[in-house]
Amino acid sequence: MAVKNKIKEALGNIIAEKILYDEPMSRHTSLNVGGNADALVFVENEDQLIEVIRRLREKKIQFFPAGNLTNVIVRDGGYRGAILLMTRMKEISCENTPQDGYLISAQAGAALAKVVSRSAAEELTGLEFCAGIPGSVGGAVWMNAGAYGKEMKDVIKTVFLLDTAGGKKTMSREEISFSYRKTEFPADTIILGAQFKLKKDERARIKRKISEIMQSRQEKHPLELPNAGSIFKNLPAQAAGKLIEDMGMKEMTVRDAQISSKHANFIVNRGNATASDVLALIALIQSKAKKEKGVNLETEVVIVGED
Ligand SMILES: Cc1cc2nc3c(=O)[nH]c(=O)nc-3n(C[C@H](O)[C@H](O)[C@H](O)COP(=O)(O)OP(=O)(O)OC[C@H]3O[C@@H](n4cnc5c(N)ncnc54)[C@H](O)[C@@H]3O)c2cc1C
Repeated sequence: MAVKNKIKEALGNIIAEKILYDEPMSRHTSLNVGGNADALVFVENEDQLIEVIRRLREKKIQFFPAGNLTNVIVRDGGYRGAILLMTRMKEISCENTPQDGYLISAQAGAALAKVVSRSAAEELTGLEFCAGIPGSVGGAVWMNAGAYGKEMKDVIKTVFLLDTAGGKKTMSREEISFSYRKTEFPADTIILGAQFKLKKDERARIKRKISEIMQSRQEKHPLELPNAGSIFKNLPAQAAGKLIEDMGMKEMTVRDAQISSKHANFIVNRGNATASDVLALIALIQSKAKKEKGVNLETEVVIVGED
């Protein structure tokens, strides 16, 4: 039976109206590339997510949890299985606890931008570095997203998870191993939400930091065209963008995929780029970096799906 039909059979009666079948992922990824997912499932709440995953596992259907898809390339052959979009799970709350001080909790699908503006409204500092990162809380925690010298690990207090057996689990910052753009969770773990520990500060100062960061992003990043942020991880001793620029590759194209003239670690979609165009450009950069500089550039973007 085709995977799509197996998904219909497994999920159709619980969330029929919130599933798009054979959905082009180019409509949903920030790079505007990607083939069809068998199913794109808009998950509404935790209980539904738990049930959806239980049924998918029961039928041995593969799935991929996603937030805003700002760090994902889906290959042109599409995704065989279900992409679970968490962006409707977006509650944010704030509390002042006697033991831990000020905490902001957010569900996995909450936009980082909303969490940043809520923390500014509550006069809490710590999350300003996330200003302008277009992802969700789940994506940012999974990737240990970072900018301007800070990472998620610096502000996380607790992560709420769904483990591989389908049970809810809480992990404290100390129990989690973070590395550069990676948080080590067991395979198939789903992030349900996270709690951030913040400090009181003046609202004006917080807002100033946020607008400085937003302005710096406007100046440095090619935000006018679809992109997925930094394509490669930086090397220990050198920024990947600087390396690519030094190799003279700025503005190089594979059809409509182009290395940005503004920031060489960004690939932009000039209109009709496909995932294959972007991946061909990535391969060109990697092979030149290896040949000329002797280094392996590792992708920061997550690549999924079929060729
Ligand atoms: C213009 C631009 C600027 C950017 N700037 C930065 C930056 O400064 N710093 C930075 O680190 N990144 C940056 N990014 C990349 C990206 O926005 C971040 O990595 C972001 O945190 C990804 O969030 P997302 O919700 O889009 O995740 P997605 O792209 O949807 O997913 C990314 C990964 O996280 C996993 N994931 C997502 N949600 C969950 C969940 N609930 N449970 C388990 N796994 C999950 C996915 O399976 C995937 O492996 C930028 C991107 C763009 C387009």
